Amino acid sequence: MNDHRLSFCISGAGPIGLALALGLGQSGYHVKLLDQKPQIDKDILVDDRRMLALSHRTVEFFKRLGVWDPMLNYATAINAVHVSQKKCKVEVLMKASQHNLDHFGYLVPQGRVILALYEQVFAHADIELCLGSKITPNADLSDGTVVIQQNNKKNTETFDWLIAAEGVNSVLRNNFGIETFSRDYDQIAVIARVTFEKPHQNIAYERFTDEGPLALLPVNDNEMAVVLVTDSRESDKWKKASDLTYAAEILARIGARLGDITEVTERQVWPLTLMIPKKVVDGKLLLAGNSAHGLHPIAGQGLNLGIRDCEAIIDLFAVNQYPTDNDLIAFNNARHKDIVKTVGATDFLVNAFGVKGTLAQTARSLGLLGVKTLPFVKKKIAKVGMGY
Ligand SMILES: Cc1cc2nc3c(=O)[nH]c(=O)nc-3n(C[C@H](O)[C@H](O)[C@H](O)COP(=O)(O)OP(=O)(O)OC[C@H]3O[C@@H](n4cnc5c(N)ncnc54)[C@H](O)[C@@H]3O)c2cc1C
Repeated sequence: MNDHRLSFCISGAGPIGLALALGLGQSGYHVKLLDQKPQIDKDILVDDRRMLALSHRTVEFFKRLGVWDPMLNYATAINAVHVSQKKCKVEVLMKASQHNLDHFGYLVPQGRVILALYEQVFAHADIELCLGSKITPNADLSDGTVVIQQNNKKNTETFDWLIAAEGVNSVLRNNFGIETFSRDYDQIAVIARVTFEKPHQNIAYERFTDEGPLALLPVNDNEMAVVLVTDSRESDKWKKASDLTYAAEILARIGARLGDITEVTERQVWPLTLMIPKKVVDGKLLLAGNSAHGLHPIAGQGLNLGIRDCEAIIDLFAVNQYPTDNDLIAFNNARHKDIVKTVGATDFLVNAFGVKGTLAQTARSLGLLGVKTLPFVKKKIAKVGMGY
């Protein structure tokens, strides 16, 4: 009997690297988790007010990892999703209760997600977290041997598997020469949190307008996490825009349904790109999270797709410590299919609602009418949103 325990080196301790390290550690494997960040600043994480929409499936995964309880204290349930388009009378309200569910998912501050994961990672004996460290690029990494640079020290180590969880611009992925398809959206997301006069009643809003889409996601009682998408040529304008200008743009897009905006937090501006790699496994390298896909944030699916990467990698090694070539091909094909479908669906949404003109407007109205009147379409959309 082979009692060798597999070893993994995960590069990148963002939410995906942390979740994956925990899942593999809990499966009994040795994990070395690297991040180039020199330290974890708990105060910064506590103050990080960016919100993540976690699907029903992601929440179930976090429960299995044992990290959901500390997140729950800061979570706001999404009980319904309202989809509409400016200048179109058809509006769709999808309620979780229509699908025999309490909620579709939750909004949780990103800092609280990362903190809850960090705490469990710290506590796990088989996970070694190395901050201020990274794999030296341009070496031959094909046999799993890497040179890890931490401060001024360099160490050579060999692992059974390497995992890139380094975000969209992964050095490790590039090091293996994995080609990617990418496209700039020529759009930016201007994100913040705003407080409305009226309570949101746990409804998330997806609003499409000629100026770009707007997502409003419920936080606490009256607050909303805003993803306001606009042309990238307006980047400078939005970096400098006042609270008043930002609030006015949101109100111009969503209308008066939630009343006036009484408070606006500091804005952050994100460039938006679509990215799909040709494969997510190459020799001893696996890709996960934003290293394996980049998608438009309008439907809040980026992290949720990354969590499905984690589930699939954990399952791959749970079934068989030593996956065969066929197992790896099946894994690659299944992940690739999910990634193309999710990135493609989000891209379709952005493009379908981004086209101006009367004909496009009529087609969109008919599309929304279809969603409103055909229960099976509604059901399918709700299932996708929940991550299933
Ligand atoms: C505006 C906006 C809103 C979003 N909203 C949502 C949402 O509501 N719901 C949702 O599901 N998703 C959302 N997303 C997507 C979500 O934020 C990402 O999918 C998620 O952060 C990806 O996590 P990750 O761990 O893969 O990558 P990252 O969060 O990018 O983390 C990568 C980590 O790797 C480290 N690193 C990078 N390079 C190296 C290296 N060479 N060596 C060592 N370490 C390295 C970095 O320091 C970092 O810690 C949103 C994205 C944007 C832009």
